[in-house]
Amino acid sequence: MKPPSLAHGRSYLAIPGPSVIPDVVLQSMHRAAPNIYAGELVNMMPGLTADLKRVAGTKHHVAMYTGNGHAAWEASLANILAPGDKVLVPATGRFGVGWGETAASLGAEVETIDFGKRSPMDMGRIEELLRADRAHQIKAVLAVHVDTSTSIRNDIAALRRAIDAAGHPALLMADCIASLGCDRFEMDAWGVDVMVSGCQKGLMVPPGMSFVFFNDRAEAARARLPRVSWYWNWTPRAHAEEFFQYHAGTAPTHHLYGLRTALDLIHAEGIENVWSRHAVLARAVWAACEAWSTVGSFAMNVSDPAHRSNAVTSLRLQSPDATALRDWVESQLGLTLGIGLGMATPGDPAWHGFFRLGHMGHVNGQMIMGMLGGIEAGMQALKIAHGPGALDAAATQIAQAQVVSPARSQSA
Ligand SMILES: *Cc1c(COP(=O)(O)O)cnc(C)c1O
Repeated sequence: MKPPSLAHGRSYLAIPGPSVIPDVVLQSMHRAAPNIYAGELVNMMPGLTADLKRVAGTKHHVAMYTGNGHAAWEASLANILAPGDKVLVPATGRFGVGWGETAASLGAEVETIDFGKRSPMDMGRIEELLRADRAHQIKAVLAVHVDTSTSIRNDIAALRRAIDAAGHPALLMADCIASLGCDRFEMDAWGVDVMVSGCQKGLMVPPGMSFVFFNDRAEAARARLPRVSWYWNWTPRAHAEEFFQYHAGTAPTHHLYGLRTALDLIHAEGIENVWSRHAVLARAVWAACEAWSTVGSFAMNVSDPAHRSNAVTSLRLQSPDATALRDWVESQLGLTLGIGLGMATPGDPAWHGFFRLGHMGHVNGQMIMGMLGGIEAGMQALKIAHGPGALDAAATQIAQAQVVSPARSQSA
């Protein structure tokens, strides 16, 4: 007899974006088309903008686009760069390289420092490079906060200190597409001039909207450009009323309702609590992965916890085991894990030696324990060598973070 499939029931897409969409977000999108010229949707915009800026830690401006993260990459650059301008790209994975490629496609001169796939940016080297640019030709530094391919988290506040230490006027531009609403990020406090993000990762909305946050320094740089193309121009979009009524075409109506609900969830929980939930759940994931890593080829891509993201974890497992494991947990358990993006090219056998876990957005303790349990079952079923005690180690992380205070246990 065939073994029973255990994939029926609610499936779990545990990839680093799109992330799990809360039912309340989906429900808020399930409605008739609203009036885009007046009424509820238009009235909702000022509050939506304010709440989005709170998540980013900025009092400055945000422009919204009907497009994914790639659109925000291009939008941010279109407002800052003229053809021939130079940018510095300190890359720690596929997404850093990709933003640089976008800049090159717009005619920028791109200088990439590649820090490889397993270590964060070396701020000392960046500072040195900026010091050497005495003519201040570098107009912006394009830095990915969490590179979703490698799961490396870079210290953006330290990057600002490095730019300042070099006495360089380059704008600091950060990609927080994977990290916003997951890993702590404070745009104004950290001195970030431009930040890009999307709606389908920590913000828990289906893919289709993206955001460019910018401060007055960035606005001044934009004002010096001879022209900015009509669609990408961020200035009219930063005034929500104008954007949705006249300037940029039809508003992404249902995404706006979804985003409204997602922001309500985030602010009801509190952004500090959202960050610490991600931190605890990430520690549970890391504890399991470290236990698995003690035997066989299983390895975490980033060895130092200080440089790991709380939103995504990139893993190494001898080819073709990673692909076999992903296939098994998806077909047998209804659990979808992420492919190993940017670590090797598809077609290369090494490509089957990487996978990723998304733990961003609408995830809780039982989902994470279920995901880890599914991986454990898959490795047992496929006879993939791995260390023992992973689930115990994960449970311990969660239990330790949730020690109930005496007052609470009495009232409960
Ligand atoms: C997902 C992601 C992108 C690309 O976003 P899309 O919506 O897929 O275009 C860019 N940068 C980072 C860090 C990401 O995680």
